[in-house]
Amino acid sequence: MDFGVSEEQSLVLDQVDRVCKGIRPIEDKCYLQRRFNDRVGPAFGQAHLLGLPISKSFGDGQGADTVTYALAIERIGREGTGVRTFVSAHVSLGELTVQKWGSEEQKGRYLPRTTKGEKVMAFGLTEPGAGSDPASLKTSFEESGGKFILSGQKTWISNGSIADLAIIFAYPRGKRDGMCAFLVERESAGFSAKPIENKMGLPTSDTGTIYLEKCEVPKENMLGPRGKGLSVAYSALMSGRLSVAAGCVGVIQDCLDEAVRYAGVRVQHGKPIGKHQLVQRHVGIISTNLEAARWLVLRAAFLKEKYEENPRSEQSREAADLEIAKAKYFAANASFDAANRVVQVFGANGYSLENRPARHLLDTRVTKIYEGTDEILEQKIALGVLGKDFEAYS
Ligand SMILES: Cc1cc2nc3c(=O)[nH]c(=O)nc-3n(C[C@H](O)[C@H](O)[C@H](O)COP(=O)(O)OP(=O)(O)OC[C@H]3O[C@@H](n4cnc5c(N)ncnc54)[C@H](O)[C@@H]3O)c2cc1C
Repeated sequence: MDFGVSEEQSLVLDQVDRVCKGIRPIEDKCYLQRRFNDRVGPAFGQAHLLGLPISKSFGDGQGADTVTYALAIERIGREGTGVRTFVSAHVSLGELTVQKWGSEEQKGRYLPRTTKGEKVMAFGLTEPGAGSDPASLKTSFEESGGKFILSGQKTWISNGSIADLAIIFAYPRGKRDGMCAFLVERESAGFSAKPIENKMGLPTSDTGTIYLEKCEVPKENMLGPRGKGLSVAYSALMSGRLSVAAGCVGVIQDCLDEAVRYAGVRVQHGKPIGKHQLVQRHVGIISTNLEAARWLVLRAAFLKEKYEENPRSEQSREAADLEIAKAKYFAANASFDAANRVVQVFGANGYSLENRPARHLLDTRVTKIYEGTDEILEQKIALGVLGKDFEAYS
């Protein structure tokens, strides 16, 4: 494994860096006004970055490999978990899932427009009664008049109230197996959505509830083979988790940068606080965790790329899935710890949302919950060691 940044990767990262710098003042303003930042999508879209890991055959697809994409997401993560969540939901959970499971017709119909940012994507698995246990979801479909008719509700969906196109999971009506995935357009009859208010953090990211009231979906919009919905969902979560992990590395980097900057200028007891050894301890711990998280993410991205090159290999899939779970679990917790430490380094100024540490603390907390809670990932990682005979439930 060689993780030195290549010339090609540098060009991509420079471009991502330019967009991130352009977004920052808008994000600052939106954060303090607690409103969705609707400039994130257009900014990345205009820079042709919304199709970074998508094949060049589709619209603005750039064909970047998984490691390059992870490095780009790390850079985006420095801008905040809200900014990064938009990209993760649209690209990792949305587009990559269409690219992997979609028919040629579906890919040709949707990816050119999503990669240009003309259509925003969301991924609707969670329901009011089904979170960690997605197999218990209640949304159902039946077939009528040459269409699928979907009924149910999806909640806590990133980009949920703004998405033009959502991947929705449902069981055949009256059944508890044979889950299917569907590509559902916002304009479909019976589709409506509204934002979730009063979140603890992520004010600049849209999180919504989607209502499907006898929602009409054309026959050609089933995504992946009939009955393989859970496989579609789990493969999407692999991509999504990796992007969460990479974004958390960016958060840790930003926390470290802020801690170093502030420790150099804030003077107490006659010297910069960076000269006090207990403040140095915070810097040392954040810096060590940053390297550990970054290497876990790069290794997981490398293994995912190997799996993408050899998608029939169950061994490759399991190896990538396990390392991604470890990377996400570690990076999420390390980012929360880093945010907590940098708030401490800032003292009272750390307690103000005017400054980045407090925002990271409130925002990165979600990474211990979405796309596999800590507890679910702890079990998944343990099973990777103990073996499937130790499965508590199936
Ligand atoms: C801001 C935000 C954005 C989100 N975006 C999306 C999205 O885009 N798409 C989407 O589909 N979902 C999304 N989610 C939902 C998210 O994936 C779920 O919240 C998550 O899967 C956990 O489900 P839950 O909230 O229902 O918690 P629950 O499943 O009810 O879990 C509650 C607690 O019980 C624990 N627990 C549950 N089962 C077990 C078990 N077997 N063993 C041990 N502990 C257990 C959990 O770890 C947790 O601590 C989002 C959530 C948030 C907050």
